[in-house]
Amino acid sequence: MKKVIIGLVLLLVASSLFFTREAFSDVLQESYTSIKEVVVGKIAFSKEQDREQVTKKVDAPETQTAGDQAEVVEPEDMKPVIDPNNPFLILVNKEVGVLDENYVPPHLTVPDVAFSTSTSERKNMVKEAADALEKLFAQASSDGIELHAQSGYRSYGTQVTLFESYVRANGEEEANTFSAKPGQSEHQTGLTMDVTSASVDNQLVQEFGETVEGKWIAEHAADFGFIIRYPQGKEDITGYMYEPWHIRYVGAEHAKYITEHGLTLEEYLGVVEK
Ligand SMILES: [Zn+2]
Repeated sequence: MKKVIIGLVLLLVASSLFFTREAFSDVLQESYTSIKEVVVGKIAFSKEQDREQVTKKVDAPETQTAGDQAEVVEPEDMKPVIDPNNPFLILVNKEVGVLDENYVPPHLTVPDVAFSTSTSERKNMVKEAADALEKLFAQASSDGIELHAQSGYRSYGTQVTLFESYVRANGEEEANTFSAKPGQSEHQTGLTMDVTSASVDNQLVQEFGETVEGKWIAEHAADFGFIIRYPQGKEDITGYMYEPWHIRYVGAEHAKYITEHGLTLEEYLGVVEK
């Protein structure tokens, strides 16, 4: 009898856990429906392509070499597996990914780095990204490079105010080339930071890319899981002009592949045709 009661209790706990999980994933689903529909669909396609390429690479050595001299596929040449549920691979842009006005990323925290802003909201990042930024800044510092963090998380409401002020000053069409409409800003994900330096008066300008600090970022960001999100020459794909200061956390494995292959996040996720 005791065993039966314990069994029933366990069954109850298990089923309630299952339904809680379902309800939670429904809430997440709502925020990302539009993103997932497109991204997941395209990812399935790009994965198939990869498998084909890997198969070809593996097959080739067998016909060319014999015995224990067989070539192996170098791990760094293989595209990492893209898990569509990986929260660090979320795509936010003007075409595909739009965040809900109520979306606030989990675990926002202020990294322990030098800031060139006094606005407290902007100092926040998602915990994992904040930890990675601390490591990046520490390495830069020990290489004699002094970086300043200028702008991280921005709420939907903050983006409304910011975009409206740009529209008043520049008109909507121009504002849209350097700023994002509310819900379309990657800053709302908490995974990005605009980084600058005293050599450009802590401004967010393209000249930053030519400074020793900007060059250091371009060379080392991927080691810490960050990519230059809006690279030069990819404006048609990203929808943004070159922004050497805007780094986006995706995790080291993905960042290294994206950087080594000169890709944008859109190309990496297979959301645009190359
Ligand atoms: Zn930015």
